[in-house]
Amino acid sequence: MATRLNDQFLEQLRDRIDIEDLIGEYVDLKRAGRLTKGLCPFHSEKTPSFVVYPESQSYYCFGCTKGGDAITFIRDIENLDYIEAVKMLADKAGLQMPNEQYDDTIIKKKKRMLEMNKEAARFFYQYMTSKEGEIGLNYWLGRGLTPQTIKHFGLGYAPNDWNTFINYMRSKGYSAQELYEGDLVRKSEKGFYPFFRNRVMTPIIDLRGNIIAFGGRVLDDSKPKYLNTSDTLIYKKGNNIFALNFAKSSGEDSLILCEGYMDVIALHQAGFTNAVAGLGTALTPEQVRLISHYCSKVYLSYDSDEAGQKALRSAIDKLSETNLNIHPLKYSEGKDPDEIIKKFGPERWKSILSGAMNEIEYKLLTCREGLDLTTDDGRIKYLRLAVPVLAPLGAIEKDVYISRLSEELSVSRDAIMAQVVDAEKRLNRNRRRADYGSLDKSFNEYKDKASTRNDFGIRAHKAEEAIIASLQSNPDFLKKIEEQLTPDDFLSDFYRHAYEVLRDRIGSGQSIDFIYLSSEFSPEEMGRLVKLQNSGDLISNTFREVQDCINVLKEENEKKKVDKINPASLSDEEFLKLFKDKRGE
Ligand code: ZN
Repeated sequence: MATRLNDQFLEQLRDRIDIEDLIGEYVDLKRAGRLTKGLCPFHSEKTPSFVVYPESQSYYCFGCTKGGDAITFIRDIENLDYIEAVKMLADKAGLQMPNEQYDDTIIKKKKRMLEMNKEAARFFYQYMTSKEGEIGLNYWLGRGLTPQTIKHFGLGYAPNDWNTFINYMRSKGYSAQELYEGDLVRKSEKGFYPFFRNRVMTPIIDLRGNIIAFGGRVLDDSKPKYLNTSDTLIYKKGNNIFALNFAKSSGEDSLILCEGYMDVIALHQAGFTNAVAGLGTALTPEQVRLISHYCSKVYLSYDSDEAGQKALRSAIDKLSETNLNIHPLKYSEGKDPDEIIKKFGPERWKSILSGAMNEIEYKLLTCREGLDLTTDDGRIKYLRLAVPVLAPLGAIEKDVYISRLSEELSVSRDAIMAQVVDAEKRLNRNRRRADYGSLDKSFNEYKDKASTRNDFGIRAHKAEEAIIASLQSNPDFLKKIEEQLTPDDFLSDFYRHAYEVLRDRIGSGQSIDFIYLSSEFSPEEMGRLVKLQNSGDLISNTFREVQDCINVLKEENEKKKVDKINPASLSDEEFLKLFKDKRGE
């Protein structure tokens, strides 16, 4: 549980940080009456369901149910814990953190881990430039990298022995346990040993310029070719994009997404400083979010082998969920950008970029692969595969591609259009079915989550929700609620906790603005509180309706008591009475 900060400090923070400005740094917000709306930064979407409420200084996404105050937003988007998020906001606002004791063990630990990685990177670089590490330097130079590039990316080399690295880090004050927690060493029965040995090293740097992890590549063809830092306190594999720290200031409105960091380094050296890579995983939603935040156009440079093409298809699918213009690159001059630039120079790569297909052209090209379009059979097969590609497109795009196909295959426009319209109808039907299915599923999941203690009715659940929502809007209801309910009367853990927090704060005359609540609730829970405050149908501003809800909760609690009684211990009369009560007669 995070430590509470004093209200005066939080109040200053609230007054100095405007949530629209803050979120506006991450999301392109558009005004819609009293609210602002934008594309949610927490999930991929094409139409905005992310709303900022300036009045209550809060936000909520109707698509993924993320919500909260400014602190919760920073926690979630920067992947920080509560105190770290407050610190970041305090810095922004030019406020000193209060002197009182708060638990900053994690912050200190992370800070030290970052310093440790910096020291390790310094070591790998220095070792590479020493006589013993020459082999590493020669590897990089042999790949055509200049000393400037090597320095720019902070590349290095890890010694081919068991002690040098550990001894150096110890001499700088880092314990084996710390190195272990940072995944720089591993453990065996014989003790700690360096994780990276005889490998050329690439530091992985986050957007703030911190070294958060390392990738190590073998010098020859042995396996495993790449070793990467596992998840640590400061690094989560799917949360970062390699070289985005440089690419974000390339001045381009596009990114070139590559498979590996060697491609990226080669491209940067050749002047394409908007190249990035996804660090050895299938693209995660977090990475998709990052990419779409920094550009409006993305080129995809993936290997032409089977694995590369599979990764490419998956990347296209994921990026299609956003508004990005997607341009898969197809080239035959070499196996990767590095090779093409070496063989033909940067100009050739530039022309590959400028002649890049868009997503639809790429998909159509994939459909016709291996088909002989001079035969009727080949043309029919091609059309059959192409129709589903065209079905989801807008009217103008449909028109363009159908005309092209019609010309290419000498099939009438109308015939193709009829097929596409049919496919579109099917698609919409399936989509509606899927939407309904997922709605149903999320409702059931929500029911499960809400009923943490016992299975209880949706009626009681609604009553709890309405009591909390009404109390948030009308703190003066507390006295009457308190006279009739104890926290234990709430059936789900979340609402019981919410009630306790609201009761304690209102009872002692404190504000219940979201910023004061966010130390008590997880980001997920904050989302639910914000949602409640904006659910007009749940909020009653007269106590009469709240009273009805209180009655419902009391009844539910009575029923639960009945459930617990062993019927065998009752007389016939008692049993009959309970039985009738239970049925509500
Ligand atoms: Zn969302």
